[in-house]
Amino acid sequence: MVEVHLDGVGKAYDDVAALEDVTLHVDDGEFFTLVGPSGCGKTTTLRAVAGFEPPTRGTVCFGDRDMAGVPPEDRDVGIVFQNYALFPHMTVAENVGYGLRFRDPPGARTPDERVAELLELVDLGGLGDRDPEELSGGQRQRVALARAIAPGPDLLLLDEPMSALDARLRESLRTQVRAIQSDLDITTIYVTHDQEEALAVSDRVAVMRDGRVEQVGSPEAVYRNPDSRFVAEFLGENNVFDGRVVADGPAGVRVAVGDREFVVPGTGAPGERLTFCVRPEQLRLGGVAERGSAAHQTESGGGENQFDASVETVEFLGEAFRVHLDWDGRQVTLRVPEEPDGETVRVGFDASDVHVIETADVATPSR
Ligand code: ATP
Repeated sequence: MVEVHLDGVGKAYDDVAALEDVTLHVDDGEFFTLVGPSGCGKTTTLRAVAGFEPPTRGTVCFGDRDMAGVPPEDRDVGIVFQNYALFPHMTVAENVGYGLRFRDPPGARTPDERVAELLELVDLGGLGDRDPEELSGGQRQRVALARAIAPGPDLLLLDEPMSALDARLRESLRTQVRAIQSDLDITTIYVTHDQEEALAVSDRVAVMRDGRVEQVGSPEAVYRNPDSRFVAEFLGENNVFDGRVVADGPAGVRVAVGDREFVVPGTGAPGERLTFCVRPEQLRLGGVAERGSAAHQTESGGGENQFDASVETVEFLGEAFRVHLDWDGRQVTLRVPEEPDGETVRVGFDASDVHVIETADVATPSR
């Protein structure tokens, strides 16, 4: 197993900068995920680690070893791509055993024993004689996974391996991939644009944007404490509010958003801009609003963080309702167990559920 370090990695294709500056450190045995919107540079980063795309600048090291000039076949890396990439003229077992032509299996096993062991590991025992075309999409990806890990590589690279599969299959396969990875304790870099998948399987997540790493952390840390508006909005649904500090107090800072004032954690000087977010599941319906009342505020107690908004759409999700609201031109989303009653609702939230994203001096232009 190996640690992977990328320092200041950039990659340009003619005049396209695919990677601007990527610095990442992946720990030994870690399941590390690159997540971000299409075109942010996830695949290019993975290809730089695999050795397919030499960086234009910066370094890729495995442990202490600088990998510059080391060809992909000498990097001891197993790779699974999005599109299966199985050899169609080989059986499932031959596909899995392919890498063992060039390298002895780990442990004191014969290649046949290793292939049988891996087919069992990915739940395909007994299907070794089939052709790839006789398998489902999920089974093919498990063959691809078995083939990648057969030689016992130091590092596993997975590039959107589930994106061609339907939602239910993706969920069961991602659990299986994670379990196998934990079992083998193999350092893994996983690429996905699916934020839910990233949160579900990873030890740590790197959120990428425009060829850079925006934030790295555990799934809970990046979900609960996003450093930027981009991360707040990319990972799951969020409600981001731009406000201005009115007063600082012992219970937090009082912030004006539109014609409302809220108390949120932290400190700030009057006049400063302050952006905060509240997840849809942290907002609650606080009773039916009085018709015609644009704002309602009590001076103390739990009623402070409230606003009235009009209901735009309601979606039934099974375990909850997702409600889209309009609050004086701002789009607000909440998830609640009960369908709202009425066209206008009062929404409340606790200061302790607020995450402050950025505080900027009044002179700083708003982003
Ligand atoms: P997706 O989720 O859509 O696969 P990604 O985050 O993996 O996207 P990359 O494939 O790494 O993104 O691409 C990053 C940027 O580099 C994009 O703007 C892409 O168009 C560009 N790019 C990637 N490969 C090449 C290439 N061979 N030649 C020119 N530009 C490229």
